[in-house]
Amino acid sequence: MSVAVVLFTRDLRVHDNPTLSAALSSSDTVVPLFVLDEAILGGFFNRPNRARFLVDALRDLDTSLRERGARLVIRRGDVVDEVVGVAREVGADVVHMSADASGYARRRQAALAARLEADNRSLETHDETLFVVPPGVITPGGGDHMAVFTPFHRRWEKRPVRDLAPTPRRVPMSALPAGRIPAADLLCRGAASPDLASGGEAPARERLSTWLAADIATYDDARDAVADDATSRLSPYLHFGCLSPVEVVHRARRQGRPGADAFVRQLAWRDFHAQVLAARPDATHRDYRSRGDRWHRSHEELEAWREGRTGFPIVDAGMRQLAREGWMHNRTRLITAHFLTKTLYIDWRLGAAHFIDLLVDGDVANNTMNWQWCAGTGTDSRFNRSYNVTTQARRHDPRGIYVRRYVPELADVDDAYVHEPWLLPEEQRQALGYPPPLVDQDEARDRLRRARAKPDR
Ligand SMILES: Cc1cc2nc3c(=O)[nH]c(=O)nc-3n(C[C@H](O)[C@H](O)[C@H](O)COP(=O)(O)OP(=O)(O)OC[C@H]3O[C@@H](n4cnc5c(N)ncnc54)[C@H](O)[C@@H]3O)c2cc1C
Repeated sequence: MSVAVVLFTRDLRVHDNPTLSAALSSSDTVVPLFVLDEAILGGFFNRPNRARFLVDALRDLDTSLRERGARLVIRRGDVVDEVVGVAREVGADVVHMSADASGYARRRQAALAARLEADNRSLETHDETLFVVPPGVITPGGGDHMAVFTPFHRRWEKRPVRDLAPTPRRVPMSALPAGRIPAADLLCRGAASPDLASGGEAPARERLSTWLAADIATYDDARDAVADDATSRLSPYLHFGCLSPVEVVHRARRQGRPGADAFVRQLAWRDFHAQVLAARPDATHRDYRSRGDRWHRSHEELEAWREGRTGFPIVDAGMRQLAREGWMHNRTRLITAHFLTKTLYIDWRLGAAHFIDLLVDGDVANNTMNWQWCAGTGTDSRFNRSYNVTTQARRHDPRGIYVRRYVPELADVDDAYVHEPWLLPEEQRQALGYPPPLVDQDEARDRLRRARAKPDR
């Protein structure tokens, strides 16, 4: 009787899970395993919002496995030690896991493969569980990754997308004490955001179906309208693998509505960033393309940005949405990140760290590479692109609905002033209890130009 261990990581689902499918089709019984990785639990990545979402997702996966005659085995510790221990305990010859992109994930994978081999067992990794097109598949002649999105996307779009893996009806399991899924506050101390979404495959599938049925049609026109909240909000489910990106692409294309192409294009960005990070793992902390920046250091300005009291309503609304929901609209992510790096000229690493503290979809590849894109140190060829936040606010929140939703001090301000409260007569402005602008945007733009124009940089 053959036994396989299925090591779940960021693929917390039973639908379209090629890793689970491969284990089921090649072994008589399996052990579905999740290891609470001490190296991650003890690091900067373990934050309350993601801990709560993870616990939801593990519970949901356990429920799906129980419905199929199995359950999720939970261990805590060093991943390699725990997996090898379980494999020995149940006599498994093979461990299946989904291949991931970050430097940490790849080192962990390599260490596990080596230890299993020394134990006369093997590791089978599956490239197409977490990505539509995995890192390393689309490469330029002679290079290891694509550095520009548009040609990457052209080739990404033309590739056939694999068929969906079958959803198992039964998961025959080898007997083993399962362990317990801990409460989120035992994984990470601290309060989660009050309006955090629930994790798990069930809410993910419900959200996908509702969104495809109702909102994808208007996606292309409405996705930047911050007040309309017209994007899918699938990012945390994709990050934890509660949803398969391949299934999302198939279902979006099948829907055939206007909006599907624009939406699927966004999914290509996930794969694009993953392949950049896989080739350049140090991009998590090093400039992908250095501009020789000597960043401005101001603790007060950084704190004002973090807390949403810069005096620029659209920036403050975005930062407060992040604190309240553990999620922020893409357009305000762009605006707030540009504001920190280009207007305040503060190091992107400080901004990325704050986003990782709070984002429920916080993802090493997507967060880092998007931050670097905004800072001009990443893959954006227009690296000195800088937004006027007031123009952005008027364009993407013309009536100030988004701003009023998150910045109650401005709830009763007239439309004409909601994005520029500093233009109000002094007495009225003071009565709002809302801060004046932290900087002059024109001076800030000149500072950036001067800094980046230096010939020795
Ligand atoms: C500074 C900054 C930091 C970011 N950090 C993260 C992060 O940590 N994790 C994360 O998933 N996304 C990140 N993004 C990308 C993007 O903002 C979110 O994926 C998106 O807002 C999620 O909302 P949605 O699911 O409604 O997106 P939709 O517009 O519905 O898009 C569908 C999916 O496409 C993917 N996607 C969309 N835009 C991008 C993008 N620019 N890069 C990569 N994937 C994308 C996401 O998986 C998303 O769920 C960041 C963007 C910026 C500017």
